[in-house]
Amino acid sequence: PAQLSVRDLTKIFETPEGPATAVRNASFDIAPYTFFTMLGPSGCGKTTTLRMIAGLETITSGQILFNGEDFRRKSAFERNIGMVFQSYALFPHMTVFENAAYGLRLRGADEAMIRQRVTETLAMLRLDGLAQRYPADLSGGQQQRVSIGRALVYHPGMLLLDEPLANLDAKLRVEMRDEIRRLQKTLGVMALYVTHDQEEAMAISDVIGVFSKGQLMQLGAPYEIYSAPTSLFVADFIGKANFFPVDIETSDKDRSAVVARGGSRFPGVRTITAARDESSWFCKPEAALMMSRPEKMWLSAASERLDEPAFAGRAVRIQFLGSFVRYLVESGQARGEVIIDLPAFAPGVSEGDDVRFG
Ligand code: ADP
Ligand code: MG
Repeated sequence: PAQLSVRDLTKIFETPEGPATAVRNASFDIAPYTFFTMLGPSGCGKTTTLRMIAGLETITSGQILFNGEDFRRKSAFERNIGMVFQSYALFPHMTVFENAAYGLRLRGADEAMIRQRVTETLAMLRLDGLAQRYPADLSGGQQQRVSIGRALVYHPGMLLLDEPLANLDAKLRVEMRDEIRRLQKTLGVMALYVTHDQEEAMAISDVIGVFSKGQLMQLGAPYEIYSAPTSLFVADFIGKANFFPVDIETSDKDRSAVVARGGSRFPGVRTITAARDESSWFCKPEAALMMSRPEKMWLSAASERLDEPAFAGRAVRIQFLGSFVRYLVESGQARGEVIIDLPAFAPGVSEGDDVRFG
């Protein structure tokens, strides 16, 4: 089974303005059969990383090992990778069948083999009836299916997908991401997927690598990345997060007791230390922030007497969102508006009311 090892991968582009680092010392190991997603804002180096793995871009320094073999010794063709692009990149003058057959013809497969593999692949992608059509006569979703078929038909060792769903509408995007994941598991092929959409990444992946400014910030299962971010960037980029400026009272290994603005004391807060360059753009270097996810919080009317440490604020907006109720709260004790998601309406709280929350 296929295993990928990326070691200190770096890409520096020479530009008219001087050298620009697109990827800086990225290292990660991907186990066989894994659906791995590179997630991060536009320009953080996802496509460049993918292109270096595919052999479409030279490596400035670092190593890519696939099954222990150094990829730099192999051409893009020899790496036997299936690649799917956002733009589909289908050949407009070829039928669906010929588009799908392309990688096999390139590899010198005979007609019987081509017929069998293409038929099998088109059936798997539910494109059987469309084999003689041209790309222009297909919907966006069908075109993207053909491009996935073209990448899978020669049974590649690895499937690389660069924002393949970005041009589809929201509903189709959700359908297609489930289909891509199902296909990947059925075929047992390793997948490297690129997206800037954190919900898509959480839904589709076994492992997510979160990138920022060319650096891999954190690697982990969706649940780990969401519940235990190891940096302010990841905490803020994945899901919704509330931040409260605090002073650290005592700190014991990875737990702290903190005091928030206004004097409320919170014991047992899990503590992480942000990189210095990260804290400088996020908050003052000496300050600490306490973070909490919206669904981990409670809220009640200000008149209720409570023993728990709490913040004070005002519910400025209450949104009924079906499976939960979202409260937007203004509080001088928080950094920005606070988001609190509850399973049901909080009794006695209307828009404009004073509330307590924690
Ligand atoms: P992403 O896919 O995450 O949006 P990219 O990998 O495309 O990011 O780009 C990362 C950085 O490298 C960006 O700042 C981009 O402008 C730069 N870059 C990408 N390709 C080139 C190139 N051929 N020449 C110069 N700079 C490039
Ligand atoms: Mg990109």
